[in-house]
Amino acid sequence: MKCSRDDKFSSGRLNPYGNIELNPASGVLNYGQGVFEGLKAYRKRDGCGFLLFRPVENAIRMQMGADRMCMPSPSADQFIDAMKETVLANRRWVPPQGKGSLYIRPLLIGSGAVLGLAPAPEYTFLVYASPVGNYFKAREGFAPINLLIEDAIHRATPGGTGCVKTITNYAPVLKAQLLAKSNGFTDVLYIDPVNKKYLEEASACNIFIVKGKAISTPITRGTILPGITRGSIIAIARDSGYLVEERLVTIDDLIEADEVFCTGTAVVVSPVGSVTYHGKRFEYKTGADTVSQRLYKSLTDIQMGLAEDTKGWTVEVV
Ligand code: PMP
Repeated sequence: MKCSRDDKFSSGRLNPYGNIELNPASGVLNYGQGVFEGLKAYRKRDGCGFLLFRPVENAIRMQMGADRMCMPSPSADQFIDAMKETVLANRRWVPPQGKGSLYIRPLLIGSGAVLGLAPAPEYTFLVYASPVGNYFKAREGFAPINLLIEDAIHRATPGGTGCVKTITNYAPVLKAQLLAKSNGFTDVLYIDPVNKKYLEEASACNIFIVKGKAISTPITRGTILPGITRGSIIAIARDSGYLVEERLVTIDDLIEADEVFCTGTAVVVSPVGSVTYHGKRFEYKTGADTVSQRLYKSLTDIQMGLAEDTKGWTVEVV
């Protein structure tokens, strides 16, 4: 749907998937004025209907990002209505339960023409979707990933846009990601650009370490995306009796951890098998009897409607 600064994102329509027209002078093409979200719809076990996981949080995060990028954004109700319509229009593409999900990608872009640097006068909110299997080419939740700590390329800087999901956060990490992949790693783990000793996050997921009975994850100080999966795992882990700390987590803490895992909409909860730092490889516990396995199961049971949703996190689409 298209709107000017004063419109209310009220009129949307469904189109078959295809190219869109964009003004060559649009804010998004010239100045990267855009934010996006990612969420998944799971098919319910009985085959009737679908579940969205915490879409209000995605709507709120998009609003925060839009504000940072000087754009108006859809209300939470408008956002969720658009997600529901997209799921229903693509219902035949939602994989059977246990075989994947429908990944939904809402995008908000400055589509109006703007030659000098300024916010675009017109915006477009669009949503597309695709069936997905597991993000990392292995069985999600089970096959460990291998991370490379990167200390030359940074994902975010203080005062930048690391804590919101702007499109401009992603192309700058492609280089580090490609280099890591070409050396056999699954992804890059970024560290803070100032002290170069605190963990931040991977390219598209947050990180947790487990030491004894304590779980820690880097505190979000403006340079880390506050992942919705991260927040959910913190809540589930605390409910399950774990001590969970959001704090500054150092590379040394990581090296000494028993277990490490990543969280995100795409990766869900993925165990980390190894982290490599300055050529040294550190290995972690993975497999059946691990904290990450237990948390993966608790989370996905809620997401797929197999466990009671006591927190009201899921939104049904029928
Ligand atoms: N960090 C980054 C940089 C991401 O792109 C994502 C994916 N949105 C995450 C963390 C995880 O966030 P979420 O759990 O909301 O998907």
